[in-house]
Amino acid sequence: MKYDYLIIGQGLAGSILAYHLLKYGKIIAIIDERESFTASTVGAGLVNPITGPKMVKSWKSEILFPFLKDFYREIEIETDTKFFTERTIYRPFGSVEEQNDWYGRSSRINYQMFLKRICESGAHDSIVNDQFGGVEILGYVLNMALFIETMNKYLVSRCNYIETHFNEDDLEIGRESIKYHGIEAAKIIFCSGYHIRDSKYFGWTPLVPVKGELLNLKMNSDFETIYNRSCFIIPQGKGIYKAGSTYDRKDLTPVPTLVGKNEITKKLDALLKTDYEIMNHAAGIRPGTVTRKPLIGVHPEHRNLAIFNGMGTKGVSLAPFFGKQFTKYLEEDNNLDEEVDIKKYYSLYFKTHFSIGI
Ligand SMILES: Cc1cc2nc3c(=O)[nH]c(=O)nc-3n(C[C@H](O)[C@H](O)[C@H](O)COP(=O)(O)OP(=O)(O)OC[C@H]3O[C@@H](n4cnc5c(N)ncnc54)[C@H](O)[C@@H]3O)c2cc1C
Repeated sequence: MKYDYLIIGQGLAGSILAYHLLKYGKIIAIIDERESFTASTVGAGLVNPITGPKMVKSWKSEILFPFLKDFYREIEIETDTKFFTERTIYRPFGSVEEQNDWYGRSSRINYQMFLKRICESGAHDSIVNDQFGGVEILGYVLNMALFIETMNKYLVSRCNYIETHFNEDDLEIGRESIKYHGIEAAKIIFCSGYHIRDSKYFGWTPLVPVKGELLNLKMNSDFETIYNRSCFIIPQGKGIYKAGSTYDRKDLTPVPTLVGKNEITKKLDALLKTDYEIMNHAAGIRPGTVTRKPLIGVHPEHRNLAIFNGMGTKGVSLAPFFGKQFTKYLEEDNNLDEEVDIKKYYSLYFKTHFSIGI
């Protein structure tokens, strides 16, 4: 049997791209070695439209947000599993100036769609320090570990799913198809997260892996709001919360560290008023990029090799929209957003592969 696509990796990127391609009627094989701690199984799943220290509207959020909401809800219905929740994100202000700035922003149309309300001082002071008030934002949370597990069952029943390590050296690239250990497919798509940096086919793309650590906490207080200033606290139900995270570009071992734990608890102690107990501690490596935009497209020489990667810190919001766009690009030759298309980096490939010594 010849497959339309062989997908390497069933993290968030591979799961979502496979879903879109299946909806398109494509025949798919997937290889994933099911590592225990990946960005997708460890990630906090927060979908926040207004991010960063300066709290600016995140890239394309006005397009991505309506899309992702319908996308995850559709899979919830199809799989009869609840993994996606709407939540209020409360961001306490750090000063009176910040409060004034937010009163100004609240009149702007591109902020209005995400703003719930601006709160006076003390609105959430039973939980967090908010002496200058804060802003309530509309957000979502994806239970990432449950989503990956649900998608695993979904894909196992609809694709040829092979749980093993993919070894690039065994890949045979032909004109019309690729072959790997007896599997023949028209195209292969690499959704292998930060491991793509070791690929001889796509290692030239500007990937910047970023390690992240998270703590699972237990508290006596029970709240549903997400709190976010310097670090986030996300309710998981039954008095359990996720708190994080860290950003480390140097240590790329996917194991928790004392330094990471101390960094999170220091930020938590500045934000949170209630006591907490640390239940456990996890780490994963995000496939970040130089531009903080995904890396999507086809190989400059081998047109049957493609990549869907670089989801960085925002995979939950980026992957649904760009998964659909990439499917239409592959199947209908539709446009791919030039900000995500790896075409703009082709010169890096040619420089590293065809440089002629003078
Ligand atoms: C601590 C932390 C917190 C985060 N919080 C958020 C958040 O709140 N919101 C958000 O949107 N994003 C968050 N992220 C980022 C998010 O997790 C990523 O954007 C996303 O999970 C990336 O998915 P991926 O599929 O590209 O990569 P991965 O999750 O790394 O998946 C890659 C898959 O490929 C498989 N694979 C790789 N190489 C091979 C091989 N050779 N053979 C077989 N299989 C292979 C792996 O087993 C894995 O399953 C967070 C990440 C971390 C680490």
